[in-house]
Amino acid sequence: MKRVAVLTSGGDAPGMNAAIRSVVRCGVSKGWDMYGVRKGYAGLISGNIQQLGTRDVGGILNKGGTILGSARCEEFKTEEGRLKAIRGLSQMGIDALVVIGGNGSQTGSYLLSELGFPVVGIASTIDNDLTGTEMTIGVDTALNIALEAIDRLKVTASSHQRAFLIEVMGRKCGYIALMAGIAGGAEYILLPEVETDPEEVAESLRLAYEHGKAHAIIVVAEGAKYNAEALTNYFEKHKDRLGFKIRATILGHVQRGGDPGAFDRILASRFGNGAIEAIDRGEFGVLVGLNKGKITTTPLKDIVGGTKQISQEMVELARKLD
Ligand code: ADP
Repeated sequence: MKRVAVLTSGGDAPGMNAAIRSVVRCGVSKGWDMYGVRKGYAGLISGNIQQLGTRDVGGILNKGGTILGSARCEEFKTEEGRLKAIRGLSQMGIDALVVIGGNGSQTGSYLLSELGFPVVGIASTIDNDLTGTEMTIGVDTALNIALEAIDRLKVTASSHQRAFLIEVMGRKCGYIALMAGIAGGAEYILLPEVETDPEEVAESLRLAYEHGKAHAIIVVAEGAKYNAEALTNYFEKHKDRLGFKIRATILGHVQRGGDPGAFDRILASRFGNGAIEAIDRGEFGVLVGLNKGKITTTPLKDIVGGTKQISQEMVELARKLD
């Protein structure tokens, strides 16, 4: 019989609870004892760990956030902090740890596994910026929330012949901006990965106005060089030539807070099972992800510090559709 602990770390993402539930229930179904760590790596260091049974993870599948809590933990970035965490886990007789989190959290899980502790990572971040998986937990729900906002803003934009700048999450990875822009029929999409001349954006607005469009929607990733603020400032200086009145909306954390949709609940449930199966095979130091429809494992050493490429096919499609 094994003892396995699970934690959530870094930015919360809709579907983290579904992943916790799946890890616990798939572990219990193997006859293992399962444990939950509160507040990410901070709880690992302070020993905030409790046993979780099947009923303890009931009623959470449809809830956003994470019942285990999440935290940023500077101490874990030091080797001393990580050794302290391992001592705590060993004292409790825990054989393996599942880390549900994004880029930073998986760097932490890699460093923990380098110190010899058996770790399996589950890809979870609404930015979808982790390599080793095509999709991360939370991104689909966040995308749908952004899309709903775009649809609503389009209605009000049409009534007043306005252009709306909508800033969505994505510091390094423009996945949400690109997909929300395509699904929401944006006139222009600004991504961190693609250098954009603001004059080109202004030109697309002028053309939209000349073609008699009742509204113009520009979707901007927060990490784009010209984010909502920079673009607003630029347009303010050139407003006479634009045709439309510009309004900016920054969606911010509302994108994180939603209840997970079907895709994220199913993905998280599959990832949870994938982590338990990896532990059962004795496969550690890996990230559980989704590739070509299948649940895969990729060595953490290959994903740490990696940069996910944006799909050029999607970038070109967006250009054709504006
Ligand atoms: P995310 O996992 O969402 O990218 P963060 O980047 O904030 O979130 O990372 C979450 C936590 O993971 C940090 O508070 C820290 O405890 C741990 N972590 C992040 N980067 C490292 C690192 N380079 N070394 C060790 N631990 C790290």
